[in-house]
Amino acid sequence: MFWQKDIETMDRKDLRKFQLDCINKQIALAKKSEHYKDKLSKIGELKSLEEVVKLPFTTKQDLRDSFPYGCLATDLKNVVRMHSSSGTTGNPTVVFHTQEDIANWANISARSMYCAGARNTDVFQNTMGYGLFSGGLGFHYGGERLGMLTIPIGPGNSKRQLWFMQHFKTTVVHILPSYALRLSNTVKELGIDVKKDLNLRIFFIGAEPHSEAMRQKIEELYGVKAYNSYGLSEISGPGIAFECQCQQHLHIWEDYVYPEIVDPKTFEPLPDGEEGELVLTTLQRQAMPLMRYRTKDLTRIISEPCACGRTHRRIARITARTDDMMIINGVNIFPIQIEKTILSIPEAGKNYVIELFDHNCMDKLRIKIEINNDTFKGTLKDLEILQNRLVSELKQELDVTPVVQFVEAGSLPVSEGKAKRVVDLRAKK
Ligand code: ADP
Ligand code: ZN
Repeated sequence: MFWQKDIETMDRKDLRKFQLDCINKQIALAKKSEHYKDKLSKIGELKSLEEVVKLPFTTKQDLRDSFPYGCLATDLKNVVRMHSSSGTTGNPTVVFHTQEDIANWANISARSMYCAGARNTDVFQNTMGYGLFSGGLGFHYGGERLGMLTIPIGPGNSKRQLWFMQHFKTTVVHILPSYALRLSNTVKELGIDVKKDLNLRIFFIGAEPHSEAMRQKIEELYGVKAYNSYGLSEISGPGIAFECQCQQHLHIWEDYVYPEIVDPKTFEPLPDGEEGELVLTTLQRQAMPLMRYRTKDLTRIISEPCACGRTHRRIARITARTDDMMIINGVNIFPIQIEKTILSIPEAGKNYVIELFDHNCMDKLRIKIEINNDTFKGTLKDLEILQNRLVSELKQELDVTPVVQFVEAGSLPVSEGKAKRVVDLRAKK
């Protein structure tokens, strides 16, 4: 049942004691870094977890400003690895690891996969990007630590992915949800029967927001159980929070991070159950401890016990990043609301793009969706009816009337990494 029973089912009082002890050690360590030296100079030992609010927040911008070594809290001789996230604007954010960090990360990754049912008899195909992106190497080490045959195939080349799955009898796959949908086109094209020709049983889907409808679609397409996998490179990477076999929210590993939820506008802490921005303080990181890192991810903490027996609290599916929120004529909209509606219509294909543009000084929302040639066999008139139906369902969900435009299957751009769903064409206000 458990990878580390003593830790996963630890009494909450002991867990909190352990957390406080770790936080005090992390504070002392962080003080050695250029970035935290002054910020933490007046902070002494915390007497209780309630005092965590005294610590300063850390933002992605702080990491950028301290590029390249400002957040490093140890000598370079102890550092063995770095990862870095996109950095499309300005300096990238860089994250460093010691040997111990890599081992701890591998352990929580293994714990995550084990809690979703992966075992050392599994063949694990890791389709996440290897390299600076933490998605690939993180679960690669986790897969090996768990004892699975780990195939470092990386992303893309769908035919080769399926060839590997067939020949090595892959049972477990780590995949971006948007890529899982796209890969299924190749499954069909090659006439592969997922039940007869493949041995798949578990998918880990994560690294980008996706809806429950998307999970169900993936489970249906591949005949697997799909588990939500959450992580971010600033803390280490995948394996920070994970669904157990109950598939009811994600256990956040509370011996590895101390989670808080804050109001995204005032940054005041919110009680369990209320939705806000997830803030994480590292508990074990040696190269780069982070104090109250603002993830920009929106979720809530579920403190009710889980049926699996793990005592680490859970977070709800991440609905969006705060910066994904689109404001259309004053109405707040998240891409996931649109995805949910599109996926409920069988004639709609799996790839879509959301465009924002100006029209007569008003914001307009246009959604381009690929048509599904298997389920849509109608005439132009039928297409118009379908379009109108989607507009009205979206209007109900969003409170905004979008323009819906069906386009040919395979005509929208695809990316090898995370899907880029929103294109803002509005003149900057
Ligand atoms: P970035 O995408 O910022 O370049 P990362 O690769 O570290 O950097 O991605 C981490 C981010 O990906 C998270 O902060 C979150 O927004 C998103 N993410 C990761 N896992 C999930 C998930 N299971 N559900 C929704 N969003 C996720
Ligand atoms: Zn559970």
